[in-house]
Amino acid sequence: MKITFYGAVGVVTGSKYLIQEGDTKLLVDCGLFQGERGLTRHNWDPFPINPESVDAIVLTHAHIDHTGYIPALVKAGFSGPIYSSHATYQTSGVLLLDAANLQEEEAKEHHAPPLYTKEDAQKALGFFKPTDYDAQIQIKSLQVKLIRSGHILGSAFVVVTNGKETLTFSGDLGRPQQPILKAPPYIKATDYLVLEATYGDRIHSQEDPEKILSTVIQETVKKGGVIVIPCFSVMRTQLILYYLYQLQQKNSIPDIPIFLDSPTGISINNLFCKFADEYVLPQPECKAALGIARVTPTVAESKQIDHIKQSAIIIAGSGMADGGRIPFHLQQFLGDAKNTILFVGYQAVGTNGRILVDGAQVIRIYDKEYAVRAAIKTIPSFSAHADAHEIIEWLSHFEKAPKKVFLTHGEPESIAALKKSIEERFKWTVIVPKYMDSFSLE
Ligand SMILES: [Zn+2]
Repeated sequence: MKITFYGAVGVVTGSKYLIQEGDTKLLVDCGLFQGERGLTRHNWDPFPINPESVDAIVLTHAHIDHTGYIPALVKAGFSGPIYSSHATYQTSGVLLLDAANLQEEEAKEHHAPPLYTKEDAQKALGFFKPTDYDAQIQIKSLQVKLIRSGHILGSAFVVVTNGKETLTFSGDLGRPQQPILKAPPYIKATDYLVLEATYGDRIHSQEDPEKILSTVIQETVKKGGVIVIPCFSVMRTQLILYYLYQLQQKNSIPDIPIFLDSPTGISINNLFCKFADEYVLPQPECKAALGIARVTPTVAESKQIDHIKQSAIIIAGSGMADGGRIPFHLQQFLGDAKNTILFVGYQAVGTNGRILVDGAQVIRIYDKEYAVRAAIKTIPSFSAHADAHEIIEWLSHFEKAPKKVFLTHGEPESIAALKKSIEERFKWTVIVPKYMDSFSLE
């Protein structure tokens, strides 16, 4: 068996790993490069091998940095099965069409053809083969298995074997303590491990997110203001709704309208509670928690929110305030000191979110400048990724040392820190692959 790294090396996006065994070619994850232009332009490079020669794709989870290149690969000739969990298939049905929509809009802006269209994404979805967790999938000479992994809805560890050697992909590693999803199970043994290192050099804040959320809401309502929450549509939106539901149940926040103003977030919410084996809540509580918001799928309904004359909570995308409906709410609510903009996720350099979090007094949104008078707040303790301690804790349950651990999906500093921790604590062999590096696994 041989592995080649075609993405997520030294960066946190573009996960693509090719496994070869004889003439069998299997791609684990097929992600888009996201973020800075220097990286995203690589989405346009021709795929390093003939896409028609790839037998199958197996997915760890539905995040676009793990799936968003699929429609481009299909467009270039890939036509094999795409194996994923049932929840990943349904989530991808929402996210890949959303990604295609963004590609089309961006292309229009630059008067250039899109990387792929909604039709390409729709065609790609036709190749999906949703599969049960723990079921054996035979791909020519390789056997593959998905194990539920607790990062987001539908996420899985992918285990590949040729009958002699076993290779396990952590995908993005979930957190042991989380209020909605079941915790990631422990893996006892694998010959080779591909491990993500997003937070390999950091420890998540221990502050109680529910408490911060409650304080921010109470303070803003006291001033008669509106709370605007830029939010990612998968997991973060459901987590915020769950905390708001808890606060409502305890009468810890005033009874004010909550709007879920994100078509993607609404679609994900609608499918979330169906997958009862993924989460720890009883299903009726899942439905109650995710059902507390008024949904505003149309643009007209979204615009209507901005005329509200009382305190309210508005949850909308995008999470970094760069696209979706959030910029329009910022235009409306940024200029008044009684309002609060509450960030609940990582804000990448260069995004509107980062500019606001860094304390800008003025911000440019769609070619117009706006004074920032609203309070800008952050809840730092939300994350769907295990931190440095949690990764080491997860690894400590291996009963046998892997022959090699490959670290991917992390910035160079995170990777270096995690490599050092693993070597010191377990004395395992840790490899940091570079783009297109190949390793024989035997
Ligand atoms: Zn992820």
